[in-house]
Amino acid sequence: MDQIIIENLQVYAYHGVYREEREKGQHFYINAALETNTTLAGTLDDLELSTNYGEVCRFLDGFMKTHTYQLIETVAEKAAEGILLQFPKIRRLTLEIRKPEAPVRLPFESISVKIMRGWHRAYLSGGSNMGDRKRHLEEAIEALRADDKCRVLRVSDLIDTKPYGGVEQDLFLNCAMEIETLYTPEMLLEKLHEIEQAHGRERQIHWGPRTLDLDILLYEGCIMAAEDLTIPHIDMHNRCFVLEPLKQIAPYAEHPVLHKSVCQMYEELPEAERSQDIDCLRRLP
Ligand code: ATP
Ligand code: CA
Ligand code: CA
Repeated sequence: MDQIIIENLQVYAYHGVYREEREKGQHFYINAALETNTTLAGTLDDLELSTNYGEVCRFLDGFMKTHTYQLIETVAEKAAEGILLQFPKIRRLTLEIRKPEAPVRLPFESISVKIMRGWHRAYLSGGSNMGDRKRHLEEAIEALRADDKCRVLRVSDLIDTKPYGGVEQDLFLNCAMEIETLYTPEMLLEKLHEIEQAHGRERQIHWGPRTLDLDILLYEGCIMAAEDLTIPHIDMHNRCFVLEPLKQIAPYAEHPVLHKSVCQMYEELPEAERSQDIDCLRRLP
């Protein structure tokens, strides 16, 4: 990806653990590498199609001066988030906050914190088989849209599917979503749980009836198996009700463990599984 680079932007500000640092202030220097595609702006020689680095510098200057944090870790974290939210063409950035006058009574040139942050593409699945199923799913999508750290890019049709896992219960309504998010996988799961809670989700029977279920299917190329979060979703490749809507919006998204596309996983589902689901598949408007 192309980069717009800012080197050693100087800002006098008041961050630090010690009172003196917060009262007297000191110089900070900022390095930033902003990842963005400059092809169109470069070809057409049009600033509107790029990111105005002057505005980014003014944002950083204003941000550094109007806040006071103890840690340069926090300065970096919040400033990176602010840039990603304010300048939509920047996909990722590396941001370094240098503090050459840090109160360390030893000879040194400079101390800094350097972080990389960005938008991450993820695929989610939604399901409901209690109450007003369509409303639960639509409100879940709205809740994600209302969160400035998520951008909902695509939503599949809402489709009727037979329940999975052997528990006798009503038909499900399922969908898949493509989003971009600033959240880490753990934070995204927390956000999804919050939305489920707001819809009265209760966990009684495993794979039992639910007002709303939101799962993370894929999160960029991430592979992880923590106690309470497995990515890719551990059973996605076996589920017609997941792959059918996902195929609609992301046929070529790749499962990073199986190295198969969504289309391929769908084609490889047992015939019985596919035809059983498709029998009752009805697209809602
Ligand atoms: P399944 O995960 O088989 O679809 P479920 O969605 O009915 O079953 P839940 O009761 O909603 O199961 O979730 C149980 C736990 O699964 C969650 O609390 C969460 O910590 C964990 N989990 C692990 N990986 C994921 C993931 N990729 N997406 C969502 N939850 C996950
Ligand atoms: Ca689920
Ligand atoms: Ca779940």
